[in-house]
Amino acid sequence: MTVNNIENEKPEEMNSEDNVEKESKVYEYFEAVDKSIKPRIEEELKILYELCKIDEDLKDIDDEKGDLPDRISEQKVTLDKIWEELDSKTAELAKLKDEEGSLRKTIKKGEDKIAKYDEQKYNAKSNKEYDTIMKSIDTQYETIEKGEKRLKDLSEIEEILSNEIQELRASSDEISADLKSNEDSLQELDEKYSQEELELKNKKEKLTVRLEDHIKKLYERINKTMKGSAVAVVRRGNCSGCFNSIPPQREIEIRSAAKLYTCQSCGRILVDEKLIG
Ligand SMILES: [Zn+2]
Repeated sequence: MTVNNIENEKPEEMNSEDNVEKESKVYEYFEAVDKSIKPRIEEELKILYELCKIDEDLKDIDDEKGDLPDRISEQKVTLDKIWEELDSKTAELAKLKDEEGSLRKTIKKGEDKIAKYDEQKYNAKSNKEYDTIMKSIDTQYETIEKGEKRLKDLSEIEEILSNEIQELRASSDEISADLKSNEDSLQELDEKYSQEELELKNKKEKLTVRLEDHIKKLYERINKTMKGSAVAVVRRGNCSGCFNSIPPQREIEIRSAAKLYTCQSCGRILVDEKLIG
């Protein structure tokens, strides 16, 4: 990871040709801005250090909010799923109830018909007519029997569905209550920190525009993984981020601020402690 004037803190030296090319690129790059590189790099490092402190504060605020924002969005997703399931099961139950209603009507009709045929059979004028009536009665009994069997099945399915709907409603109520309390807590924290966050973000914005574009990108990339600690200070030969030791020669180079260095072990941008006072 080496961008123009950024070099990873690594013990092995590059070959001299590479070095010359790199140095010259760096020099040319900054020459138009400054007559010497050191003040410019030192300035960038100071900005980066300030930026890091702001990101640390922003991270503290995020930590204070904890996993509330994540939990809230997870709960919303879960609730959506529950409601979708509730809708589909409620619709299914309504359909079954409709079927139950029409089955009961069919059974009632069959019973009425049987009662009617029962009277008719005594007035049958022939054996054939009597047989026909008896056959009709049998048909009605079959229909009623089939209907009652289906009603029994329906009642079992309806009971299962009703229980499931009840459980879903209970979960929905429980999660909704928890979500409401999480949203209230987050809102409270948002209100508590909104002003501070705004000020920090404004400060960050002002500092960021002063950085060279590629350094800004480097910082943002490291900050993404280091979450508010993209810059480490070199103290007594160690990186303050990961406590890995830095070779004395490299320490001198970091102090000379001719380039930007990142820690080989943790990847943080390294700043000499004398620079930041
Ligand atoms: Zn480190």
